[in-house]
Amino acid sequence: MKIMTFEELIRECSSKNKKIYELIQEYEAQESDTSIEKIRAEVKHHIEAMQSSIKTGMTSSEKAISNWCGDDCEKLQVGYSKRNALFGKLFEKIITYSLATIEENLRMGKIVACPTAGSCGIVPSVLIAVSEDYNISEDEQINALITAGGIGAIISNKVQLAGAVAGCQAECGVAAAMCAGALTQMLGGDISQILNAVALAMKNLLGLTCDPVCGLVEVPCIKRNPILAIHAVTSSELALAGIESKIPLDEVIDAVRQTGQLMSPMLKESSQAGLATTKTALELKEKIFG
Ligand code: SF4
Repeated sequence: MKIMTFEELIRECSSKNKKIYELIQEYEAQESDTSIEKIRAEVKHHIEAMQSSIKTGMTSSEKAISNWCGDDCEKLQVGYSKRNALFGKLFEKIITYSLATIEENLRMGKIVACPTAGSCGIVPSVLIAVSEDYNISEDEQINALITAGGIGAIISNKVQLAGAVAGCQAECGVAAAMCAGALTQMLGGDISQILNAVALAMKNLLGLTCDPVCGLVEVPCIKRNPILAIHAVTSSELALAGIESKIPLDEVIDAVRQTGQLMSPMLKESSQAGLATTKTALELKEKIFG
């Protein structure tokens, strides 16, 4: 049976007395005609790919196609060698890892799409940085990433996860929601706290447009990743304190879908409006493509 809504997820978890990741891995194993062990081994492999992408991204400053992006992670590390982050070492690590991952994407290195390539720096940065600093076991990391995957899959029943269809709310927005849920799972939150974290992250990114400058996944995509990684952490912190979304998660997802449908096609990856048609963006386009 496919889980179509978060309401169904809550009902199933409660009737079977299972956590979100337990239910998702069970269904995934059934659907793929394999064992839960094999599913978990595959997820472990994804976590290793994320670690590898971060590691490479941290040591590279190779520029992307445009030649004006690709060295932000290096700049950030140099900046932090002179001045500590205002919110401490974990904050520093999360935004550094996020830039490392998304810059690996734009220079066509190891791309760890989660759920999409343009939003790949959100889930990995928080998952890996928090795991390192809080000594989170490999098993718990796998549980968290399965939780994130289940959340993304249920959202995708109603909203296609593509900027061209529903704007960046469906890419970086959904990545932040998945990340908030995964982090809440990792920090011991219950189902209600996990889904409230998802709702809080998602509803505060409603209407986020996709207006990439020159049609490249560079501006605004790169900086959007570290900024929304912290957005996900904030959502998780609120939910773990028992703060709830007044609008239930399924209704938030309905609002994402409706907002995506109402959004002008000019703001859905076509680079016909927004940041993509600013004076500077048009000058850059002329410079790069002639
Ligand atoms: S702005 Fe568009 S291309 Fe960039 S990450 Fe968001 S959805 Fe993807």
